[in-house]
Amino acid sequence: MSRKAKQKKRQTKYLFVVGGVMSGVGKGITSSSIAKLLQARGLSVTAIKIDPYINVDAGTMNPTEHGECFVLADGLETDQDMGNYERFLNVDLPANNYMTTGSVYQAVIEKERNLGYGGRNVQVVPDIPEETIRRIKKAGELAEADVVITEVGGTVGEYENILFIEAIRMMKSEDPDSVGVVMVSYLPVPGSIGEMKTKPTQHAVRTLGNSGVQANIIVARSPLPIDEKRKEKIARFCNVHPEDVISAPDLESIYDIPMNFEKEGLSTRLCGMLKLPCKSKIDLSDWNRFVRKSKNGKDTVKIAVVGKYFNSGDFVLSDVYISVLEAIKYSAYKLGLKPEITYLSSQSFTDKKALKVLKEFDGVLVPGGFGKTGIEGKLNVIEYVRKNKIPYFGICYGMQLAVLEYAKNVLKLADTSTEEINPKARNLVVAVMEEQKDKIAVGDMGGTMRLGQYETILKDKTIVKEAYKKKEILERHRHRYEVNPEYVEVLEKKGMIFSGTSPDGSLMETMELPREKHPFFVGVQYHPELQARPLDPHPLFTAFIKASYESE
Ligand code: GLN
Repeated sequence: MSRKAKQKKRQTKYLFVVGGVMSGVGKGITSSSIAKLLQARGLSVTAIKIDPYINVDAGTMNPTEHGECFVLADGLETDQDMGNYERFLNVDLPANNYMTTGSVYQAVIEKERNLGYGGRNVQVVPDIPEETIRRIKKAGELAEADVVITEVGGTVGEYENILFIEAIRMMKSEDPDSVGVVMVSYLPVPGSIGEMKTKPTQHAVRTLGNSGVQANIIVARSPLPIDEKRKEKIARFCNVHPEDVISAPDLESIYDIPMNFEKEGLSTRLCGMLKLPCKSKIDLSDWNRFVRKSKNGKDTVKIAVVGKYFNSGDFVLSDVYISVLEAIKYSAYKLGLKPEITYLSSQSFTDKKALKVLKEFDGVLVPGGFGKTGIEGKLNVIEYVRKNKIPYFGICYGMQLAVLEYAKNVLKLADTSTEEINPKARNLVVAVMEEQKDKIAVGDMGGTMRLGQYETILKDKTIVKEAYKKKEILERHRHRYEVNPEYVEVLEKKGMIFSGTSPDGSLMETMELPREKHPFFVGVQYHPELQARPLDPHPLFTAFIKASYESE
């Protein structure tokens, strides 16, 4: 059968994942795990995230509030859940698969301005849900998917996501057999009574019912596994079969979740419910091998991640750098090592006396960042690891600051800075690109960065080339500034190697120090972490972890 004919025959089904009771209980990982299971049943699966914010994309949101900004290959700035889907499914997802309230409204308004509605009243309902449905169906077409999994952000009963719930209702009423709804709920076990309570879940399912949508599967998130008695109780009061209540206790690792769901028979329930053309046997062998490896590491490799977004009130956030942390883990697992990752706040290194703590680590990574806060500390860290030959991996800002540190301390350039830190400095070794200047001048900051996938050409006999084992690579970007070409020659004269550039040679994409001088000192202008996958660890992270483990 030709591909076209196959696609014609394929009847795409739609699965929605909504939240009940409270947020932050793992809807994204649940969606990713369900997607993984269905993929392992031989289905073509794609995933969508709906964020109920007015922000048009995730690029303008503060990471301490919203977590990491995950950039897709085609450049859209999205929510970190898109990263989870890509990592679990091992696929690249297109911009179509991420939407916010803002982006949906923007499309509807643009269409209206272009007379796209032929002069009729344009209304919140049905036009907003219809634009949402259009995108969901398009995702199915783009991926030639048997099933499209759509995670609706927030929890049921909020003002914010009601129009997206309405989209589910409209799709379900049009074709009830091709739409399923999973509610990820939370079952508290209050310390004072020590018993798992189902009532909040009952209320959440009823709230969803008020919008005309019945949950088909209830994922019972809780510190503990749910027992049969409570499964039956939920089934009776929430109109589902007891087998459709899925136990989802806290587990040691998020990568255990697909298997845990499978033990509950989830993929079979879903395939039956949506009449999906799935294979009778699930194949999770690669995944299980990865999970096993992740638990069997013998030696430890200690990595410090020095960032500025770790603290929020009394809490330490690691979500901001989730892709970086996962990328470190995958490479360590691949090498049979146990990663021990420590988050260090760059502000604490303003005082140089604090730097000696870095000696306790095998490697130091400075991830991407923005603005002036914490810069002094980061520069001190970079100087220290360069001089003390501690393996260093600088990502985006981490590369720009490595260049600045070199200009200051090795080239001894006076009055040097990056344009982001001090635009008035005489020697700007990192500067804004010409084409971005006009946009920034009028305060139009959204989407003005260099975003998405670009090609880099790697030079022979360099650390990066040896790591990738190829000459041309594609990596994802998210930055406004670049190494200033005017300083490349002087930096190179003093030993810095720009080992990867844009195809025309004008943009410095990677830098390194010669291996005779330092065991591993590498910076990249792009974000390699965005393409690291459990089943396909990133070669540069692997090279960094290996060098960290091997260096004294
Ligand atoms: N702030 C720097 C720039 O905009 C680096 C960005 C980043 O690290 N993602 O160029």
